[in-house]
Amino acid sequence: MNSANPKQEATRVTLVGMWLDLLLGFGKIAGGAMTQSFALIADGIHSLADAITDIFVLIVARSAQAAPDGEYPYAQGRFETLGTIGMGIGFITIAGILLFDSYQRLLDSEISPVPAIGGIVIALISIASKEWIYQYTMRVAKRLNSNLLKANAWHSRGDTISSVAVLIGIVAARQGYVWMDIVAAMFVALIIARIGWELCSDAVKELVDTAMPVQRRAQIEACILATQGIRGMTKLRSRLSAGKIILEVSLLVNPRISVAEGHRLGEAVSSALIGNFSDIVAVKAHIELKNHGQQQPSCQRIQELPERTEVIANIKRQWQEILGADDIESMDLHYREHGIEVDLTVTLDAVSELLASQLKQSIGSLDYVAKLRIYSKLHELKLDRRQS
Ligand SMILES: [Zn+2]
Repeated sequence: MNSANPKQEATRVTLVGMWLDLLLGFGKIAGGAMTQSFALIADGIHSLADAITDIFVLIVARSAQAAPDGEYPYAQGRFETLGTIGMGIGFITIAGILLFDSYQRLLDSEISPVPAIGGIVIALISIASKEWIYQYTMRVAKRLNSNLLKANAWHSRGDTISSVAVLIGIVAARQGYVWMDIVAAMFVALIIARIGWELCSDAVKELVDTAMPVQRRAQIEACILATQGIRGMTKLRSRLSAGKIILEVSLLVNPRISVAEGHRLGEAVSSALIGNFSDIVAVKAHIELKNHGQQQPSCQRIQELPERTEVIANIKRQWQEILGADDIESMDLHYREHGIEVDLTVTLDAVSELLASQLKQSIGSLDYVAKLRIYSKLHELKLDRRQS
């Protein structure tokens, strides 16, 4: 047993609980019908509802493991949430039917049958096995330090109470208070309704993207700003999916850094957030440009500027008389609000003042070029790094 990893062990506890609920569910419904205890039938339905919930949890856990970053990384969480709501509504409906049925029976409780003694035996078996699964689940939950399993254990404790109510109902009914069996059934129906209500309210909270509390937002912001190279942020948004947080943030970085460096900054922020906050599972970081002390650039203006191949083709055409194609090492374009800044690197040893002004004048007609910087590539040196 010690060889299993925590996830497998948690799954096994849930599986044992699920089979027990399935067994108890069918057993109590059949036993309730035979011994004529309506409370026992209601408690059987309760156990079946628990078993269905467990099956759902197990399926979701398996599919989440199978596809960590599939085609629909968030949609899966949404599907789970919608499934939870459907289940919750189903349980509330069942509880409503049970309550209505109980009420009708209560009206003619004089002619209701007295539950047979076998009902007491079945209720006792239910209490004993629920108490056993509570102890078992709690022991594993404490060892694995799992809050989810602890919650499962406490649910089993609640199930014990449900079965105790049934036991009291049957005993009292056999003492002459036949209505007590029906009241016990109503009590069980209310427990089923509560399970349904809790499933629904948790899921709805997730769907209506619950806003981050102020304090938490401040912690996340501090974590982002602590990353070297981040000059600020805009549009910090969070979405909840299946209890996990997906963050979306626009990072402001130095506009002169390379794409590779920008990407690296995004990754650094993402791993810092995921590492520091256990409930954050994914970060979508957008990189935005920011000069020191300058306003956010208007994306609209920048989008209107022509794209790279067109700009470079036009510039080269203007320069063909004065600069050979072989003389151009590279051209970096910086898209800024006021126009494109061109960083030209040439392979020439020197660029005379005259050539520089010719280059500038010949692209004067391209009104989207705002600045031209000319660099000369003197050396390209590779550092010899031995693989250790
Ligand atoms: Zn239950």
